[in-house]
Amino acid sequence: MREKTTPYLRSIAVSASIADQYYISESEPFADDTYNDPLHEDDHEVVKGLVHKYSNRALIKVSYQCAAHCRFCTRIRQIGNAEGTLTDDNINNIITYLYQHPEIDDVILSGGDPFYTAKLTYQLLQQLKEINSIKVFRIGTRLPLQLPEAFQSDAVQLLLSLIDEIAKRRPFYILLHINHPDELTEQALATIAMLRSHKVTLLSQTVFLKGINDNYKTLHQLYTQLHYTGVIPYYLYHCDAVKGIQHFAVDIEKEKEIATQLTATLSGIACPTYIIDVEDGHGKIPVPLNFINENNGTITDFKNTKHELK
Ligand code: SF4
Repeated sequence: MREKTTPYLRSIAVSASIADQYYISESEPFADDTYNDPLHEDDHEVVKGLVHKYSNRALIKVSYQCAAHCRFCTRIRQIGNAEGTLTDDNINNIITYLYQHPEIDDVILSGGDPFYTAKLTYQLLQQLKEINSIKVFRIGTRLPLQLPEAFQSDAVQLLLSLIDEIAKRRPFYILLHINHPDELTEQALATIAMLRSHKVTLLSQTVFLKGINDNYKTLHQLYTQLHYTGVIPYYLYHCDAVKGIQHFAVDIEKEKEIATQLTATLSGIACPTYIIDVEDGHGKIPVPLNFINENNGTITDFKNTKHELK
């Protein structure tokens, strides 16, 4: 995956916590064939662009294009490749598959960044909205933090009107991938505020990244700010096991300790679920935190007092 950032990111990347997410480090191999598919998405790509891994949910990769390339990306093997962009035929095949599989009631548009390819996402959503068996829509994006001015474009505004139309009848979630409070600049916050004025629910996703956000203070600040901004923290991930990016992976015991501290200090609605997306592709598993000690039968409360489990 080649290095790619945006003029906006270059203008704000005074913080190493942002820059280190985008620039190639010495620890990263350059050969693209090093990268694996840790979540086994390719094994479940039933038609081009549609991954059907869990019975009622489908992931649709609109393209492999993003405004900027995150070095820790689970899909580092694909991002930037032109062949990921859905054609008319691909979209028709996806729509046919979804009509044939009414058990799929929840679709997640990802990629690539569906807002970066707004015209194509619009074209796809126009057809998806006609499928009544789809009850819930989700779009994952990092664009508000990488190129907030893109949200002023006619293409994105048109896409947002279509999202509003769909959201009148069915829940529509936008999943914002945010890793560090420094990413919440004035422009990013203004874009998030604009998104809040639409009929969507905003959720956040974060990846633990070594040297970037693997400490309680940074994540507490991030989640407090997101809470104030009206974004509901959803998932806090352990970095996926992609060969070549393991220098970003944080020790799981350290992550558990941080997630335990976050749970003890944040409001429930401001605290994400800490999970590991298991390597063999069998799902996002919540990690038990350090409150219960089954060996001695105790539970520790948020003030660090131990109680006997009855
Ligand atoms: S924006 Fe998302 S899909 Fe694109 S490179 Fe970053 S993490 Fe990967």
